[in-house]
Amino acid sequence: MVMGSVPEDVDVVVIGAGVGGYIAAIRAAELGKSVALIEKHKLGGHCLNYACIPSKTLIHISDVFYSAKNSNQFGINANEVLIDAKQMLDYRLGVSNKLEEGVGFLCRAHGIDIIKGEASFLSSSSLQVTEGVIINFKKAIIATGSEPSALKGFEFNGTDIIDYKKALMLDRIPKTMAIIGAGFVGVEIGTLYAKLGANVSIVARSDLLSGFDRDAVNIVKKRMEAIGINIILNSNPMSYSNGVMALDTGAAVNAELAVVAIGLKPYTKNLSLENTKVDVDVNGFIKVDQRLYTSDPNILAIGDVIGMPMLAHKAMRQGIVAAESSQKDAFFDNAVIPSVVFSDPEIAVVGNISDPSLKIAKFPLTALGRAIAFARTEGFVKIAYDSSNTVKGIEIVSDDANALIAEAALAIEMGANLEDIADTIHPHPTFSESLQEAAELGLGRPVHFFVKK
Ligand SMILES: Cc1cc2nc3c(=O)[nH]c(=O)nc-3n(C[C@H](O)[C@H](O)[C@H](O)COP(=O)(O)OP(=O)(O)OC[C@H]3O[C@@H](n4cnc5c(N)ncnc54)[C@H](O)[C@@H]3O)c2cc1C
Repeated sequence: MVMGSVPEDVDVVVIGAGVGGYIAAIRAAELGKSVALIEKHKLGGHCLNYACIPSKTLIHISDVFYSAKNSNQFGINANEVLIDAKQMLDYRLGVSNKLEEGVGFLCRAHGIDIIKGEASFLSSSSLQVTEGVIINFKKAIIATGSEPSALKGFEFNGTDIIDYKKALMLDRIPKTMAIIGAGFVGVEIGTLYAKLGANVSIVARSDLLSGFDRDAVNIVKKRMEAIGINIILNSNPMSYSNGVMALDTGAAVNAELAVVAIGLKPYTKNLSLENTKVDVDVNGFIKVDQRLYTSDPNILAIGDVIGMPMLAHKAMRQGIVAAESSQKDAFFDNAVIPSVVFSDPEIAVVGNISDPSLKIAKFPLTALGRAIAFARTEGFVKIAYDSSNTVKGIEIVSDDANALIAEAALAIEMGANLEDIADTIHPHPTFSESLQEAAELGLGRPVHFFVKK
């Protein structure tokens, strides 16, 4: 199906309408260029339809459900709290549909031709869409994203061995679920289903959230265990049949569903890159320079398909930069990219917090008024700063870490020092005060925290 008129010649063609691609298309149109956006599946790509938005929608629902059942300390005794999984799924699908419609509206409003189909390159200046539509372009931006990595012996079958997409599309709460992989996807999906009442096991060959600060992970691990999640580390799943997963340690896990969440790999299937000069690395990621150009002078690439970190907001920023870079000098040169694990509590980190040459100020939420009021004192803010007090990294473990980390990212982009954060008035009573308090602590003048000299 072709939506809108099909152009034969365009200034910019964008392949993939995920968060990277549609944003690149909009910015290119804002620059006055003729733009075609090719998508073989759904506008909004994985983020809007299968990943970020669905997972955060379901996490929110699971939080509401779990809080309703576990708020005795506030004097709330809800005897019977029920979840209707079909209604929950309808809601989650409705959110994605609404956002997809919004993307379509914005693209059409900008005069972008949305073409439904699979693009494959014919040369460095032309491509073909499935139906045989041929497009000649001056510049192409590849934004084809990623796909879930498969695990040998645990091939996805869409019924009881599933990937994250299927796991975020269930119309029932399974009694038991085993998640293979303890990265952010496994932790988020495991926590949400555990809160909805499933008996969840997480099996991982290494550590929980490896790569993240242990101080933060230990808090999350404790909470996951309190919710009832069985975390099995340093173990490999060997087989799975009749609802039983056997591990190499000899242990067995009951699970009516096995969710394989061991990572993502770049998606370039059927793009026919061999007809261009585009190079990929050993892992299949498209190689780009700081202007986001591939080794082909007509072709740029952005988002998951060019490598780590595979995050929507990185893809979005690269979408803007690539569109500009296709027309003039522009560089993807952000100092930092924040990352958030939507665990309970959330972990958000930006910049460098592990360099031993940096000093660390750590403010615990046990000393924060709002955290005490909300009974959410398990967490902290850590600021890493250098000898001139310039902020180099910030980590936040708290309920609102997802929102607070933006201030931290801005601070680092602007070259802020501890005084800048400490002397900025932060509203009270909010979790944001913990950033200010951590900065005060770094300056040796804490207000709500006593350090014996
Ligand atoms: C469970 C989960 C939760 C996540 N949560 C978050 C989060 O909370 N925050 C965050 O920042 N990141 C999150 N991510 C990561 C985020 O989803 C990705 O980083 C983001 O979607 C990448 O965007 P993209 O534009 O590069 O690619 P995608 O969103 O993957 O879009 C690529 C698009 O290209 C299309 N396509 C591919 N090949 C072709 C072709 N040849 N022709 C036409 N179209 C094609 C695909 O159909 C797809 O729509 C999550 C990931 C997972 C798995």
